[in-house]
Amino acid sequence: MSRTFHLQRDADITGASGTGHVADGVVWPDGTVTIRWRGERASTVNWNNLDDAETVHGHGGATRIVFDDGHFADYSDFPQALELLGELTDPDDCWFDHNGGCQAHGFISLQPGETCPHADAKQLLARHAAPTDGSDR
Ligand SMILES: [Zn+2]
Repeated sequence: MSRTFHLQRDADITGASGTGHVADGVVWPDGTVTIRWRGERASTVNWNNLDDAETVHGHGGATRIVFDDGHFADYSDFPQALELLGELTDPDDCWFDHNGGCQAHGFISLQPGETCPHADAKQLLARHAAPTDGSDR
């Protein structure tokens, strides 16, 4: 799985590339790294690993590598995660006591405004439900 990051420069020691978000990068599944510099003379550099890139570009801590987790993610496990969620979710309806807790599923200390995770899971599953083809699997 690839991970994207960006280089955040807090101080421009060389005076050449400015501060802020100065480059975008990817750590590829084999551990090699590609960095794409922003700006008028943008360039692309490849490294054998993140340590090498950090040693050369880190400028003694003035430039930080910030991972953008959540972007460019590998969602290939998502269908299986949905299926597991479906199997782990109790099909029974929630049953709330006078304190607002769900007695049916054991979430008895829900705070006002919180919903039972089983109800949330069923809503999520309904949003992602595959179109039914009439068969019962
Ligand atoms: Zn519930």
